[in-house]
Amino acid sequence: MSGGQPSILVIGGGIAGIEAALGASALGAKVYLVEAQPSLGGRVAQLSLLYPQLSSSLEVLAPRMEKVVSDPNIEALVYAEVKEASRTGDTFKVKVVKKARHVDLSKCDLCGKCAEACPVEVPSEFDLGLSKRKAVYLPFNGAVPKAYVVDEASCPYFKDKSCTACRDACPKGAINLDGKPSEVEVNVDAVIIAAGYDLYDLRLKREYGFNVYSDVITGLQLERMLSPEGPTKGEVIVPSRGEKPRSLAIVLCAGSRDETALPYCCRVGCMAGLKHAYEVKKKYGADVDVYLCFNDVRAAGKGYEEFYREARRNGLVMVRGQPSEVRPTPEGGLTMKVFDEATNKLLRLNLDLIVLEAGIVPSSGCLKAAEIFGVERSPDGFLAEADPRLDTWSTKTPGVFIAGACHSPKDIAEAVSQAKAAALAAVAYARGKH
Ligand SMILES: Cc1cc2nc3c(=O)[nH]c(=O)nc-3n(C[C@H](O)[C@H](O)[C@H](O)COP(=O)(O)OP(=O)(O)OC[C@H]3O[C@@H](n4cnc5c(N)ncnc54)[C@H](O)[C@@H]3O)c2cc1C
Ligand code: SF4
Ligand code: SF4
Repeated sequence: MSGGQPSILVIGGGIAGIEAALGASALGAKVYLVEAQPSLGGRVAQLSLLYPQLSSSLEVLAPRMEKVVSDPNIEALVYAEVKEASRTGDTFKVKVVKKARHVDLSKCDLCGKCAEACPVEVPSEFDLGLSKRKAVYLPFNGAVPKAYVVDEASCPYFKDKSCTACRDACPKGAINLDGKPSEVEVNVDAVIIAAGYDLYDLRLKREYGFNVYSDVITGLQLERMLSPEGPTKGEVIVPSRGEKPRSLAIVLCAGSRDETALPYCCRVGCMAGLKHAYEVKKKYGADVDVYLCFNDVRAAGKGYEEFYREARRNGLVMVRGQPSEVRPTPEGGLTMKVFDEATNKLLRLNLDLIVLEAGIVPSSGCLKAAEIFGVERSPDGFLAEADPRLDTWSTKTPGVFIAGACHSPKDIAEAVSQAKAAALAAVAYARGKH
């Protein structure tokens, strides 16, 4: 502990990492927050409205991100990753690589001329392939830091120097295509891993036809469509036709609670599916038939059962059963059969759009961090807690704590509570009170 001030490294700048960093700072710690992507925010930044109150995700997230970057106790290392770590006594020596952004934040005024001039278009990761971005791009409108970035992987300058259009177009001289990554070394007393989740790869469940039929999408893609700032400006669109759907099915537990895929529950899919059904019905009313295919609905959080009832009142059709194989129809739509256990009837649904509420796995970045810091994993692959009843924020590795969806699938309320507990435990550990 240098100068009596505890120092904490937080890995992951999603909602859990943000809240862990703010919590540790409020307790007097110096915090280094490392985020791999070019902006803070994590998955919550991709969401439209948040259950159960249906508040705007960016309205919830933006003040928290701003608080992080204006906090003098927090050094946000955005677009950076931990390369290696070693331990001497009670201190972790951690090497962090800051990736080259190629855009000087102090000069860029966000005019966008670089992106206009850029000839390269690739699928946008933020919009999950529903829109294109340039090789130089703003991660999203509410990004923090709000700044452009050049993606080396899609820019030809980094292969053969054949393009410099953005540098030539930038009126501020803010682009440096020859910028190099830099390394920072930090010494910290404790580490909090908050590196989040990825979606289960639904291509492995071939019967759903994900990635085969463009009109089979994930719930996260629907979130991007429903977002007023998203690729379709808040409208739900059938990707193959660019039209609004007249019939849509939302399939819960896609890849979850399934011995051939993920045996565990994704814990957010039921509520996300209900939210999606509710939002689509609210937007388009009787113009669209919405079917919700479920095993059983798990709505156990505070205010969740009430939201479930409200969503049901909005005219969606609940079907208790998992669909069979998705097939194309001669008319250009999709069809699937579902045996409805509630009515004992075999239904054949003809659909314009199918939304899969996908299972959740620990992010690849989370697994990397676990390896670097020697954190055990549970049988389900997520990072293991010290005690599932009394201490879900500590690991069995002294000085390494966990928060958010890297520990198990969870919603924001749970992720934030665990982050605050992890911050408290990490600072206490640093002060020798463990
Ligand atoms: C379709 C869908 C809808 C949802 N809707 C809601 C809702 O309405 N309400 C609700 O409460 N919850 C909802 N959720 C759940 C919500 O997304 C999670 O609770 C939340 O994102 C968990 O936050 P997190 O910070 O733990 O993880 P993430 O949001 O995954 O953030 C992790 C961060 O860590 C970064 N990272 C990863 N690896 C590294 C590394 N090695 N180094 C540095 N950084 C790294 C990532 O880039 C990311 O920024 C929904 C989930 C889905 C799938
Ligand atoms: S052209 Fe230059 S100043 Fe304008 S957004 Fe791009 S980098 Fe920033
Ligand atoms: S140098 Fe790369 S980022 Fe810049 S305009 Fe050309 S392709 Fe786009």
